[in-house]
Amino acid sequence: MADTEIAVIGAGVVGLAVAARLAPDHPGLILLDRNPKHGMETSSRNSQVVHAGIYYPEGSLKARLCVEGRERVYDLCRRHDIPHRKTGKLITATRAEDLPALDAIQKTAAANGVVLTRLSEAEARAHEPDVRTVGGLWSPESGIVDAHGLMDHFLQKALAAGAVLQPRSTVVGIEHRDDGYRLSVQDAAGVESFTSERVVNAAGLDGDTIAALAGIDIDAAGYRLHPCKGSYFSAATRCAKLVSHLVYPVPAKESLGVHVVLDTGGRMRFGPDAEYLPDRRFDYRVDPAKRSAFAEAARRLLPEVRDEDLEPDISGIRPKLQAKGEPFRDFVVAEESARGLPGFYDLIGIESPGLTAAPAIAELVARLVRA
Ligand SMILES: Cc1cc2nc3c(=O)[nH]c(=O)nc-3n(C[C@H](O)[C@H](O)[C@H](O)COP(=O)(O)OP(=O)(O)OC[C@H]3O[C@@H](n4cnc5c(N)ncnc54)[C@H](O)[C@@H]3O)c2cc1C
Repeated sequence: MADTEIAVIGAGVVGLAVAARLAPDHPGLILLDRNPKHGMETSSRNSQVVHAGIYYPEGSLKARLCVEGRERVYDLCRRHDIPHRKTGKLITATRAEDLPALDAIQKTAAANGVVLTRLSEAEARAHEPDVRTVGGLWSPESGIVDAHGLMDHFLQKALAAGAVLQPRSTVVGIEHRDDGYRLSVQDAAGVESFTSERVVNAAGLDGDTIAALAGIDIDAAGYRLHPCKGSYFSAATRCAKLVSHLVYPVPAKESLGVHVVLDTGGRMRFGPDAEYLPDRRFDYRVDPAKRSAFAEAARRLLPEVRDEDLEPDISGIRPKLQAKGEPFRDFVVAEESARGLPGFYDLIGIESPGLTAAPAIAELVARLVRA
């Protein structure tokens, strides 16, 4: 008999949401993370936007789980006093050439069940008088959430249901056995191991590493991750007074484009850009030399921003399944019986909108576990 029923690898927002959802039905669930605390990687290095579900192809997991997750996030926030604000979001066309793209965005959103209002130049200006615009789209369902507040909620719920969080514990080996999986875990004392009937891989930027440890050929499976860094610059308080909603440009190819990011504390940042990284030696420092490029991108949205208004801020790294220039890839949420690993659940490529989608991903995992 295995030592426990379920082990979740990774205590970012996804692993935490999964643990909170599964713990009541699986006593003694173990949640492992290599860091001293939960949520120290991508989940605390993002825009904290509750996405409406606008840009993703119809029927994709990104579209479905974003729309469902958004409703769940707002509901949790309301019921548990998690700081959030349904700010709404303006997608602005800053040049006449961008206007046709608005039609395409509106159509994709509608296919996902997300209603956007088309705005004339005057209407867009009425929403945001200081934003450069020749017309836009208004998304009433977009908003912001305190990611730490959301993660703390999931953690408390999991712990209250008897889950155990093991920080500073790096999974270094996974062996498939008759009674489940033997996980080898490196902590300060050395390497120890335990067995679990089922394993959920929510290891974020190392989701592919964990799948490989379990014996999956990640290239054949299409699971190899391509880390893509996104940097932010914070904006002076005078800039924060220029907008009252989230403001996005018409999206660029690799990301949604440098946009206005607001947080629940009233601060404003610009970002993130998109920079594919050559290897896994992650450096989260933001290159101050990017300031003028960021100021340029910011001025495309808000002409009043000056270079000296911006300071290097945080960065985050996207666990992308598509390499640079490759087409759309969806989230992987898979039970791996077909690869000879029953009871092993891979959550891979959970880039944006993973924060928004987390509670919906957890529901899907719960359905797979019950199946
Ligand atoms: C720049 C940027 C902006 C974004 N903006 C948004 C946004 O506005 N809205 C939105 O919805 N989403 C956004 N996202 C996406 C969102 O942040 C992620 O989808 C989400 O945080 C992923 O959560 P996770 O739990 O899968 O990953 P993580 O938060 O990375 O958690 C994975 C955990 O696994 C642990 N781990 C890894 N390997 C091991 C191991 N071997 N042993 C033990 N533990 C291990 C790590 O320590 C880590 O804590 C953004 C992402 C980026 C990078």
